[in-house]
Amino acid sequence: MEDKTKDSLEEEKKPQGPTEDKEKDEYEKICYVCRRPESKAGKMISMPGNMYLCHDCMQKAFDSVTNGSLDWSKLQNMPYMNMNFSDLANTNIPEMAIPKKQKVKKRSEAPAQISLKDIPAPHVIKGKLDEYVIGQEKAKKVVSVAVYNHYKRMYLDNEEKKAEKDGKKDDIQIEKSNILMIGPTGSGKTYLVKTLARLLDVPLAIADATSLTEAGYIGDDIESVISKLLAAAGNDVEKAEHGIVFIDEIDKIAKKKNMNTRDVSGEAVQQELLKLLEGAKVEVPVGSNQKNALTPMETVDTDHILFICGGAFPDLEDIIKERLTKKSSMGFVADLKDKYDEDPDILSHVTTEDLRKFGMIPEFLGRLPIVVTLNRLTKDLLMKILMEPKNAILKQYMKLLELDEVKLTFDDGALEWIAQEALKRDTGARALRAILEDFMLDIMYEIPKDPGIGSVVITRPYLEKKGGPLIQMRG
Ligand code: ADP
Repeated sequence: MEDKTKDSLEEEKKPQGPTEDKEKDEYEKICYVCRRPESKAGKMISMPGNMYLCHDCMQKAFDSVTNGSLDWSKLQNMPYMNMNFSDLANTNIPEMAIPKKQKVKKRSEAPAQISLKDIPAPHVIKGKLDEYVIGQEKAKKVVSVAVYNHYKRMYLDNEEKKAEKDGKKDDIQIEKSNILMIGPTGSGKTYLVKTLARLLDVPLAIADATSLTEAGYIGDDIESVISKLLAAAGNDVEKAEHGIVFIDEIDKIAKKKNMNTRDVSGEAVQQELLKLLEGAKVEVPVGSNQKNALTPMETVDTDHILFICGGAFPDLEDIIKERLTKKSSMGFVADLKDKYDEDPDILSHVTTEDLRKFGMIPEFLGRLPIVVTLNRLTKDLLMKILMEPKNAILKQYMKLLELDEVKLTFDDGALEWIAQEALKRDTGARALRAILEDFMLDIMYEIPKDPGIGSVVITRPYLEKKGGPLIQMRG
């Protein structure tokens, strides 16, 4: 017992390191009862067990005591009230210990200053994307311009807020430029967005539309998407409000046909996404994707968040073909009927009408004004993907063997074979890694065995299992 007191005294005496001080400065305390942060609820009263109470909640507690009857029900959302606070941190109820990730970074007084110079021009964005993403030229161009406009809009909004304070107001409102990205599996949709967020140094949340359901049903609430973004931004609300949200598999929330019950994971999700896409203030739980009594809440404004929705839209090609063929068979060009069957670029003819037919509701499409399509990757592009991007998969293997002072190369025949195999699997560039891992395992295992080996050339016959790799000894 005595030891414990001594320990805790020493703990108190321990000087706090600079990082701890900084963290205290940057993160807000949150009231354990009403879950409001310090910026909203005012100064907090510190309690043992790393908990804080705001003055309002403390007052309510006192009131209920002085009114003669101790009515804990006035303290809403306060379960486990009969526990000793200092026990809370040690409990094995996960929600009871207040983890650091639930703390929210304080908002700064003035809105974030963005200067026009900070926004990279579209050709600069595209130039950087080119270093990583192969092909998909049109998509990279459209996305670069959309992103440029998105951040310009943010700049103008901030300027307008300042002008409004001075009594001047401009009537031109720039619309949000959320993006709908359509392209086959493995064509680089997610990769493009990930690269973009990294280059722009903004937080990114990737969510899967299939896990979302209408509020109140089993599955994730729509707002969980924003919770994820907040987590990606290190619980810094301002940073999150300038981030990017990528919602993948958006085609899976198309309106279901012939449904007799409520479509809780399809049309209803589209409906609920509307307000996020358009820009709304949403209350989201911090450090968790579930709202419960013990999770602090924070308000995030989605107005400046760039939403990109992506999907493969599998039957969309047929819908487009049908429309185009109908159009051509109405004139004298009925012989062109099969023309579109071979068109690898058929997706680029997509219209809003086609997407509506697919099952997306008009209001939803209206909030994704920019539609980009990505092409199916060809053999040549797949070969380039193997070698050319800054972090190309072959470069990674080469680097690993370099550590053993072995020079690894692939001849053109080998690259072609890998690309052809990937095409057969029909999962785009995703297949490349799987194919490579199959045979690279042997190389990575065998080569370091013999320190005399100086270089290895992977050849097509080796991949076809008709021969071995070309190995040269040192010296
Ligand atoms: P999806 O279109 O299904 O979202 P991904 O973006 O997840 O496909 O692609 C899977 C992987 O394939 C990426 O992680 C990336 O390494 C590679 N990849 C796909 N497309 C490209 C591309 N155009 N250029 C370079 N790498 C690509």
